[in-house]
Amino acid sequence: MDPVIILGTGLAGYNLGKELRKLDQTLPLTFITADDGRNYSKPMLSTGFTKAKTADELAMQDAATMARQLNAEILTQTEVSAINPQEKQVTLNNGQHLSYSKLVLALGAAPIQIPLEGDTDKVLSVNDLEDYSRFREQLPEQARVVILGAGLIGCEFANDLGNGGHHVEVVANCDQVMPTLLPQKAAAAVQQALTEHGTTFHLQTSITAISDNDQALTVQLENGKSLTADLVLSAVGLRPRTALAEAAGLSTNLGITTDNTLQTSHPDIYALGDCAEVEGLNLQYVMPLMSCARALAKTLTGVETTVSYGPMPVMIKTPVCPVVVSPPAAGSQGEWIIDSDGLNIKALFQQGEQLLGYALTGNKVAEKQQLTRQLPALI
Ligand code: FAD
Repeated sequence: MDPVIILGTGLAGYNLGKELRKLDQTLPLTFITADDGRNYSKPMLSTGFTKAKTADELAMQDAATMARQLNAEILTQTEVSAINPQEKQVTLNNGQHLSYSKLVLALGAAPIQIPLEGDTDKVLSVNDLEDYSRFREQLPEQARVVILGAGLIGCEFANDLGNGGHHVEVVANCDQVMPTLLPQKAAAAVQQALTEHGTTFHLQTSITAISDNDQALTVQLENGKSLTADLVLSAVGLRPRTALAEAAGLSTNLGITTDNTLQTSHPDIYALGDCAEVEGLNLQYVMPLMSCARALAKTLTGVETTVSYGPMPVMIKTPVCPVVVSPPAAGSQGEWIIDSDGLNIKALFQQGEQLLGYALTGNKVAEKQQLTRQLPALI
């Protein structure tokens, strides 16, 4: 019997493998990954200084250990270049074809590159363990770091690099931090706490060019200012990896589109994790992919199961101002009702009496559980 092939060994791929093995210990299983297949928790990448962890310390198991634990074959440093749904085969970058019984796409999302002039190879992003290792190697002591983007990841890195003794400036083309997640008052609390911690914000502008004069980088901003940096870290967002699916004729939108059983537009191909758009939702967080892994493991072992997403609060790792947010679904009708006391904000998004989302900062994060119980399920 041809194996189930899982493309990707991130949290989505490996958690699916673990869930599958709880239900079936012998189903032939092959993972293919473009990286070295080490098992790590990606959220830890933005707490490296706070927790004092190198890339090697963040890796929990290597690929050989994972292969033993999951009773699976794991092909590392192997990129899949094509999927042929009619033949039920994938093509590897060495030209080899592998047949599958079912195929699972757990391909993640890739950093968005912003168009820039100059020495653009000096702009790094940290989206996997290898990026993290490269970033840490290039970072001098007490470095001057310019972060592009003031979203969740940009703010987490600002806090973490500050904890590591680095000097951080954030450049973002928006008028508040985390604009897609937080109402203005909560964002202002996070920005104030990060500013007091040493981060300088340049909002409502963007980077236009970068030049390397051997001593340092000069970062040119649209508003005419220029900043000096040792490193530039781009955190402007991640785009689901849809190219392989698209080329294979699968339907894609923002992500690879699936129904509530995680099935793509082809009956033998499934998707989960950052690359997937499940019933219209592309949620690039750990909780949704864990729900998907549990449901898909059942489906792949013979019991078709639909995924359900309960409320999915996200803890934002800015310890200078703790944040937990459960944003209302896109397009929800309602209004924010805000109770603020310094950096402690309780923002409730309500439609009449019904709570549809919330954002809590500072000591208000203690109300997370009680509020989460009142939220409707997402799917
Ligand atoms: P990935 O981990 O990106 O895995 C993708 C896999 O696909 C990799 O193995 C890659 O090698 C492989 N691949 C890609 N293309 C190919 C190809 N052509 N051929 C073969 N293999 C291929 N979420 C939270 O819920 N809480 C947090 O606190 C949080 N913090 C975060 C902090 C940071 C810095 C980042 C970047 C993300 C954070 N997230 C957080 C998001 C969360 O980590 C992701 O949603 C999750 O890790 C995505 O897992 P994935 O398996 O879908 O993708």
